[in-house]
Amino acid sequence: MVIYLDCAATTPVDPEVLEVVNHYMVEEFGNAGSRHLFGAAAKRGVERAREQIAEAVACDPSEVIFTSGATESNNLAILGLADEGERTGRKHIVSTEIEHKSVLEPLRHLASRRGFEVTLVPPNSGGWVDPKALVARVRRDTLLVSIMSVNNETGVIQPIQECSEALRAHEAYLHVDAAQALGKVTHIEHSRIDLLSISGHKVFGPKGVGSLVMRRRAWEDPPLAPIMFGGGQERGLRPGTLPVAIIAGLGKAIEMCVASRQSRSLANQAARQSLRRVLLALGARVVGDEARSVESIITVEIPGLDGEAAMVALRDYVAISNGSACTSSSRAPSHVFSAMGYEAERTGSILRLSWSHNTQASAIEGVFGKLSTMRYQEGLSRDVTEA
Ligand code: PMP
Repeated sequence: MVIYLDCAATTPVDPEVLEVVNHYMVEEFGNAGSRHLFGAAAKRGVERAREQIAEAVACDPSEVIFTSGATESNNLAILGLADEGERTGRKHIVSTEIEHKSVLEPLRHLASRRGFEVTLVPPNSGGWVDPKALVARVRRDTLLVSIMSVNNETGVIQPIQECSEALRAHEAYLHVDAAQALGKVTHIEHSRIDLLSISGHKVFGPKGVGSLVMRRRAWEDPPLAPIMFGGGQERGLRPGTLPVAIIAGLGKAIEMCVASRQSRSLANQAARQSLRRVLLALGARVVGDEARSVESIITVEIPGLDGEAAMVALRDYVAISNGSACTSSSRAPSHVFSAMGYEAERTGSILRLSWSHNTQASAIEGVFGKLSTMRYQEGLSRDVTEA
């Protein structure tokens, strides 16, 4: 059996979530926009999900917009504010060098095509951005500050609480990419956060669904313009027939991850201890500030290990991710590790392991025992002196 240690990439749908999805696929399958009983039943499913998300992130249900996932939410948050920036002459944006591509690419678009100035703050060697350094870059014409909650490649939690507090008196909109954060950190509930991106498939919900939470400031919505046009659904910001079944599944998944935060956290800690033990015995060094990491991700550098070869050699035993695979099709060194000061040569020896409350700690030890015996036997090592 292959052990799945790539929960930061995606998770399977929880059986209880699947039941809800099935129900809205087959039984209450109506179009939530239809004005008959089938439509009303579907709409109830959607509104329930809005309430479940609102409860989890401390907002009003009317502030929840459904999207296809965190990529779309990030795009909508960033590109959707561009008109406002142009209208008011505030065309400066502050973000960080370690954001997901679904933040960095829309920012690059605004800079290259619409005349915005983007300041990207680097992380320290621990993989987190100093809140003082970030806030120091905010200017009077800063429209938006966008910072992720938990980095997907290191698991390092970013100082959202401190940034939110420091930006209290500033006009800039604050966007937080919370794709890796739900059920793991509570700072995403901070009332200063205007825009929050959420993804279903990282929390045992379906793929292809997520949400952008738009908190009102003094009863005013963040001034977003849509990036797609159509039938006016989701208050005109995200048109298209609502995928009721996966929206209902998203709501259920989020409700479950909040309700079982405590027990999931304990299970994640147990798995972490097992993994740490075997990884450290292999000579691994933790990448990123471990004291600031979520419990379910560990990223390590194993000097001398060829991460790419290790992934291939271990594919029948364990599913993990490596330091060069920043997108599935790319083998370029990850921009995150480069920003943290790792040269390209070293990022080749980095592995990311991420798990969940369902991961068996005992199975982990067996697999990594295997890694230690394979390491030098099957060409997994490079010349250590080179590394
Ligand atoms: N942001 C972060 C931090 C992520 O980890 C991911 C998923 N890798 C995304 C955004 C994109 O999420 P989705 O797959 O829902 O589009």
